[in-house]
Amino acid sequence: MAHDALQELMDGNLRFREGRATAVNDATLRQELAGGQSPIASVIRCADSRVAPEIVFDQPLGSLFVCGVAGNVPTPEIAQSLEYAVGTLGCGLIVIMGHTYCGAVAHAIAHEPTEGLFSMVNIPYDEEDAHAFNAEQGIPKLMGLSPMIEAKVMSGELQIVAGVYDIESGEFELVAQTRLETATE
Ligand SMILES: [Zn+2]
Repeated sequence: MAHDALQELMDGNLRFREGRATAVNDATLRQELAGGQSPIASVIRCADSRVAPEIVFDQPLGSLFVCGVAGNVPTPEIAQSLEYAVGTLGCGLIVIMGHTYCGAVAHAIAHEPTEGLFSMVNIPYDEEDAHAFNAEQGIPKLMGLSPMIEAKVMSGELQIVAGVYDIESGEFELVAQTRLETATE
């Protein structure tokens, strides 16, 4: 299931990049969604105005359960929101969505804050890609914040992937995942 959902997101990202987006948010869909939601994936996104997941992955309303915070870092509030998505809504895929030109990552590198939200941004010690590193580190961070999410990953019911969205090219590239069920290429 998680594999299918990830494939759908990668396919949607390709449609978006090529100007072939198909998501339709009409009255019929809204009526249908009034009866309930079963999103195919949850996303931790940055607050940045350039990275809306519904647009980037070409998904309609009801498809993505999105939690956002500057720097796309898992916080206790985000972990609790995702527990609802996973436990109650049955969501089997969590995407940690980093992005290029992230102001939060740049701020963390420049100032190395020791408290507050930006201190939670993970920055590498060497030449590693900071955006990829921060997104990837979100996986163990999220599992550390939520024993329930960690248990679902270990039982195979939930997959967490991390990736970086390139603001210029529009491409979302996977950089890490909790299971080797690749849906790219
Ligand atoms: Zn950002």
